[in-house]
Amino acid sequence: MKENGRKQGAASPCAACKLLRRRCAQDCVFAPYFPADEPHKFASVHKVFGASNVNKMLQELPVHQRGDAVSSMVYEANARVRDPVYGCVGAISSLQHQIDVLQAQLAVAQAEVVHMRMRQFSSISSPTATSSPENGSPSTAKHAPSQAKSLFSMDMVMDQANMGASLWSC
Ligand code: ZN
Repeated sequence: MKENGRKQGAASPCAACKLLRRRCAQDCVFAPYFPADEPHKFASVHKVFGASNVNKMLQELPVHQRGDAVSSMVYEANARVRDPVYGCVGAISSLQHQIDVLQAQLAVAQAEVVHMRMRQFSSISSPTATSSPENGSPSTAKHAPSQAKSLFSMDMVMDQANMGASLWSC
């Protein structure tokens, strides 16, 4: 559809030239990446970066990389429009936080697996544990995992807080 638009020439300018109210030349740098049927793409990029800066950035790049550059500029601009303070850094740090939380959960689960294996191993290896399960170590061992787990996850929360602080301070 945009190919037809280009062949018909000045009759259908690209989205950039349409918004800037200028004639869309045959060698318009915006035309391949900002087709007339997607006006919002150029609108947000123009709002955040400015048309002349986008033009400059595209001119400085080899042609085969311009499409990727436009995609990333559109992504960054949309993120900045949605979140004027953090932009795409907001999305990155939210995903980083998810990774931290999931890694903490994974570490807790792995610690539980190790603990259960050790309990299983000790109940198999020591004959006294099977003969007297009610007194001594089995009942204290029952309380140990939850305590260890809460201490462990508290450490992880502290780590997350430190990581968050370092992310914003640098
Ligand atoms: Zn144009």
